[in-house]
Order: sequence, then structure tokens, then C-alpha cells
Amino acid sequence: MVRGIRSPEDRWAWVEIDLEAIRQNTAAIRRMIERDAQMMCVVKADAYGHGAVRCARAMRRAGADQFAVATVAEGVELREEGIREPILILSEPPLETVQTIVDYDLSPTVYNRDYALALGECAAAAGKVATYHLAVDTGMTRIGINWRDAAEFRRSIDFHRGIECAGTFTHFATADVQGDWDFGMQTRRFADAVKSIQEAGLETGLVHCANTPATILHPEVHLDMCRAGIGLYGLHPAFETRRKVRLVPAMSVRGRITRVERPEVGTGVSYGLTYRVPKPNIQICTVPIGYADGLSRNLSGNMDVLVNGERCRQVGRICMDQFMFAVTVNNVRAYRPVRAVEYGDVVTILGRDDNEFISADDMAARRDTINYEVVCDFGLRLKKIYV
Ligand SMILES: *Cc1c(COP(=O)(O)O)cnc(C)c1O
Repeated sequence: MVRGIRSPEDRWAWVEIDLEAIRQNTAAIRRMIERDAQMMCVVKADAYGHGAVRCARAMRRAGADQFAVATVAEGVELREEGIREPILILSEPPLETVQTIVDYDLSPTVYNRDYALALGECAAAAGKVATYHLAVDTGMTRIGINWRDAAEFRRSIDFHRGIECAGTFTHFATADVQGDWDFGMQTRRFADAVKSIQEAGLETGLVHCANTPATILHPEVHLDMCRAGIGLYGLHPAFETRRKVRLVPAMSVRGRITRVERPEVGTGVSYGLTYRVPKPNIQICTVPIGYADGLSRNLSGNMDVLVNGERCRQVGRICMDQFMFAVTVNNVRAYRPVRAVEYGDVVTILGRDDNEFISADDMAARRDTINYEVVCDFGLRLKKIYV
């Protein structure tokens, strides 16, 4: 039974974030990184749905040297809340953002000459030098300058006194796959690009490429800095990483029962009436969480929830703001007889209740996606409570 939980006043639905778990995970990953290498904590997308400001503060205490975000607005939020560490924006933002970048001392990723020079002009006008990281595309074909052109690109922008390269990085497409050939190829291409920049007599800044799976599985690519994301939140990026480090999931999702009904046999439930009450003594309970809260409609009729430490089946279609589940009461033939539940009882959608646990991995498998998307989605609308 889940006790001592303060739900938000306005809605019986919330996300619980365990900041101690965030600290533990950060420290656990920090311990895997060489002492003289830095740790960049990735808090993009509101810290994968966990709340960027509170998580960044917890990570800072547990060993974070730098932070990374996806958008300029995410960087501005951290600065306004007092985060002083370097903040990298993980892709090149629109040209229009250079003034904000300079004002807030954010470091953008750069791979277009026009952007680099506009940033330099803006910084120079403010009497500053803007730092940036060069992204190198070594095979993922997403962002960055092609690895063959890295040195040439740097030569074409380096004359500008308003910019300074604080880092050179690439991103792996397959770091979560053990013994992958493409991973090796990306590593070699990245090493070539870094060498070509150095041979041109230019500073690379911090050289970095390791996301969470590479940080855990490939110490040889830690280089000057690791960029860890998912592991900080207690989730594993691959099956193989489970044996290497113990992580504690930081997010739980809970609600309270807003209505309990004991309908007649044959009564339909939710849109399309896809579920009909099959026998007597079934309680149909409503929880105010729906697909607009990140509970994918694809899970309809294919997920469990936990109440009073027992698993119960979700039934009927998941609605935008609510879903229903069934409790079989006093049924001696049931796989697991469940005691009647009541209005206001706490329901766990993700996380632990007594000895039962619903993981983001389990939910991801049922949704045909990855744990990253499960937690990001729950971060979108539900209120967060920090415990
Ligand atoms: C999201 C991201 C990371 C973190 O990846 P995880 O798998 O969550 O550790 C690192 N680097 C870049 C460029 C990213 O976009």
C-alpha cells in the first residue's frame, strides 16, 4: 500500500520524482568515469520528463560538471533558476537565437558557417567570446559536419575572434548494441576528425562522444567527457548495461480512484464499449489519467495498474484524461482475489506498490517503444511531486 503521498490539490493524478534516486544514479555513473574526465548530465526535454531544474540541482551535488539541453528555452530556464555550470545545446539552434545564446552564456552546437559567424558577430558586439561545440557526423546522419570536412570547416570560421571552440563531439547510432561494427567505424571516423583538427593547429576543446550506453559499456570512448542521459533517471538503455551498474528508477506515476461502480454483467466500458463486464462482482474504477498525460492509448486493455499492492487489469479504451480498470472482488476462482477498493485509493501506473512493480521497460515493450519515450510522455502534463 502506498502511504504518505500528498497529491496535488487540483487533480488526483501526479508524477513522483525521487531526487535521492537521481543523486544515486548520477554518483553511480560518475564513479564509472575516470577522475580527470568530466561528466555532462543531459537534462533535455525537461530532464526526460523528470523536471530539469530540480534534477540539475540534484545532479550537481552528485558530480555533474556540465549540462546539456535540446533547446535554447531549456537552457534559459536552467540559467534563470541559478544553474551556473556550462550548458550545451545539443543541436544547432535557429540563427535568430544568437542574441539569447550570448545573453545567457549558453554554448550551442555548431555545424553551419553562417550560424558560427552570426554567433561571433553577436558576441563581439557584446564584448564577449561565445563558446560552442562542433558536432561531427561520423555515421548517424542526423547533425554535425561530415567527419571528412571537420578541419576544413573549422578553418573557415576560426578567424572570428567572437567565437571559441569549447568542445568537439559526435553521437553514436548503435552504442547500445554489443560488439557492433558501426560503433567501431564511428569511433575511428571521430578519431580521424579530431586528429585532422589538431593537425591543422586548432583547439578541439573537450572531445566527447559517450552517451549512457557508451559510458557504461565502452570506457575506451570516455575521452575528455561523458554525456549521460537515461541512466541518470534510473533506466537502462540496453540489456547489457544491467550487469554493469545498479540504477534506481526515479519516476513513479500515480493517481487516485475518482469513481467506483459495480455494473451489471454485460455493461460496456469506455469509448466503443470494447470491454463488457463479464461476471458479477467486478468493480470498474476510474482514474483521472489519460493519453494527454502520456498514457498511450495503444495500452488500452493491455496494461495493469497496482492498487493496495495488487495487480489489476486496465479495461476499455484509454481516454484523453481518464482510464478505467477492473477489480474482481471476492472471487475465489480468480488468479488472485482482490479486496474491494474505494474512492480515493491510490493507484500506481508506473513504479512500486509493496512487492509489485511496473517498470518503464515493461510499459515500453507493450507500447512497442523505448523507456525514454515512456518517461518523456508522462512529463508533459502531469504535476510533479519531488520526494
Ligand atoms: C540525448 C543525447 C545524449 C544522452 O543519451 P542517453 O542515451 O540518454 O544517455 C547524449 N548525446 C546526445 C547528442 C544526445 O542527443
